[in-house]
Amino acid sequence: MPTYRDSGVVLRTHKFGEADRVVVILTREHGKVRAVARGVRKTRSSIGARLEPMSHVDVSLRSGRDLDTVAEVRLVENHPRVRADLARVQQGLSMVEAVDKMTPDREPVPEIHEMLVKGLRTLDTDPSPLVLGAFFLRLLALEGRAPSLAGCLRCGAREGRFVFDVDEGGVMCPSCGPGQPVSDAAIRLMRAILSGRVRDALAEGDTAAAGETSAIAMDAMEHHLERRLRALGSFDRHL
Ligand SMILES: [Zn+2]
Repeated sequence: MPTYRDSGVVLRTHKFGEADRVVVILTREHGKVRAVARGVRKTRSSIGARLEPMSHVDVSLRSGRDLDTVAEVRLVENHPRVRADLARVQQGLSMVEAVDKMTPDREPVPEIHEMLVKGLRTLDTDPSPLVLGAFFLRLLALEGRAPSLAGCLRCGAREGRFVFDVDEGGVMCPSCGPGQPVSDAAIRLMRAILSGRVRDALAEGDTAAAGETSAIAMDAMEHHLERRLRALGSFDRHL
């Protein structure tokens, strides 16, 4: 069986058979792979301890027909400050879950891989409440689903008050469409994030605009994943 090496982030794991565990890893060069870690639930396996969701690892894998097999694992980053803080654990798990739902098997997605590595690292080093929201907005942008913030989606107005409509995927004036009121400050923050000025946005701290931005990012991501799931469901039915 050929063996290959790669680095990646563990997205999730589940029990397999009596003593094994299947790990789903988003690798840099091979995309999302599923691999069996043999015997890790029977012994006090150090391999098992390194293969926790969110861990950034270097792995050596033996190719198999359905599942690869984990031959060796080296931990690159374990994100200790994330693991010590339940709120950050939940945010990190939301990152890997969204990425898992958005990525196909065995298809390299180097930009998403890099974004996930950086997102988890930022979650570890930066306590900004906007880390997850910024991650979601940028992930949506990579998928071509960035919220539209240039002006009212319906009439094009660029001034005045706006609401955010998650179904339409952007802002509208209150007279043009329904939606949640969104402040100018939150729109500015979202624009900063989407134009790559993430550091500036993360420095915002725990403000009302940061809270609005996070809430919109969560809604937009949830909406995107649901639509994706529905699209996949109808695709399956046609097979
Ligand atoms: Zn309008």
